[in-house]
Amino acid sequence: MTLIVQKYGGTSVGTPERIGAVADRVINYCRRGHQVVVVVSAMSGETDRLLGLAQQITASPDPREQDMLLATGEQVTIALLTMALQQRGQAARSYTGPQVPIRTDSAYSKARIAAIDADRVRADLTAGHVVVVAGFQGVDEHGHITTLGRGGSDTTAVALATALQADECQIFTDVDGVYTTDPRVVSEARRLARITFEEMLEMASLGSKVLQIRAVEFAGKYNIPLRVLSSFTEGEGTLITYEEDHAVEHALITGIAFNRDETQLTILGVEDRPGVASAILGPIAEANIDVDMIVQNSAHDGTTDFTFTVQRNDYKAALEIVRAIGVRLGAREVKGDDKIVKISLVGVGMRTHAGIASRMFATLAREGINIRMISTSEIKISVVVDQKYLELGVRVLHEAFGLEQEAA
Ligand code: ASP
Ligand code: MG
Repeated sequence: MTLIVQKYGGTSVGTPERIGAVADRVINYCRRGHQVVVVVSAMSGETDRLLGLAQQITASPDPREQDMLLATGEQVTIALLTMALQQRGQAARSYTGPQVPIRTDSAYSKARIAAIDADRVRADLTAGHVVVVAGFQGVDEHGHITTLGRGGSDTTAVALATALQADECQIFTDVDGVYTTDPRVVSEARRLARITFEEMLEMASLGSKVLQIRAVEFAGKYNIPLRVLSSFTEGEGTLITYEEDHAVEHALITGIAFNRDETQLTILGVEDRPGVASAILGPIAEANIDVDMIVQNSAHDGTTDFTFTVQRNDYKAALEIVRAIGVRLGAREVKGDDKIVKISLVGVGMRTHAGIASRMFATLAREGINIRMISTSEIKISVVVDQKYLELGVRVLHEAFGLEQEAA
């Protein structure tokens, strides 16, 4: 008998009919002899609706009370799903996060899980129950309700799977797995049967939004096999594990991620001396702005150009800071550009195959796509290009690396 933790997101429990469909699916797993713990999100749109209600009362709700409010969204779905299971003849019992208990620190709206006491859940499983747990919430050491941050139900599921030493943690969502790239951009994008934790982390941090990054980190740390599946169709989904033997199949790269959220800042012609990089990035860090890519190149005349990227919503603030620094450092010019995107190739296969970067650059060159910045890591190559080339760039790279759907 295997123990599975399943998580169903907001769209999967968005209506009473869909909750019924989730119940049917859960019962199917039970019939195949699995013990099942189910973690659910609030009905889709509900968390936003609750936040909106709070805003109608006050522009700055007390963090404790806001968590108290948001935790109700998931309390609704655990009760409804449990009723649906019972209605179908399946013994089941629901718990809020504090009831489990899932213990967290006291950082309201972004609490971290400290420990889970899984005895109660285990006893119910042994007694033949499906256990339904509210995602996204816990309780701090003083008994206050906390929430884990948006999308936090993924983390609840992985943490529960870890505490219960589950055989697999399954995340049911509205897509049927992790794809080679966004199918809305490349219709030939293919579902991956497997991907490694490292690749998934890169894909997630580069803009692929299938899973919460924290949940992937957590599962990787405790080596819990994680599977992404659709709650609307049947299928194997995508399994995320440490095994890298699938790298042999996809000899070169696993996927292409892209990020529209990037903007670029450049300081041209500052004196090339120790301390310049820190003079530029120090004030940026002090303003709490995260820097992604950095490029510096020195000219023959003893000056240097310095370029870096920040997230779109930090662009204005960063540009102001950089203009002030430019004046202080006597820069020739300060420029900003928010019409850029980052495209990244990801794959553990890069470790063992040379020539991937050159193939990437040649492919882009053939289409007349200019590369503005490049950065690499062990399993990733990223380029910054003009925003207008996003679709074309991703499409030609997808083809050049043979990622398209295998002919039926
Ligand atoms: N209901 C919460 C949210 O919308 C948590 C979750 O869905 O995972 O962010
Ligand atoms: Mg949600």
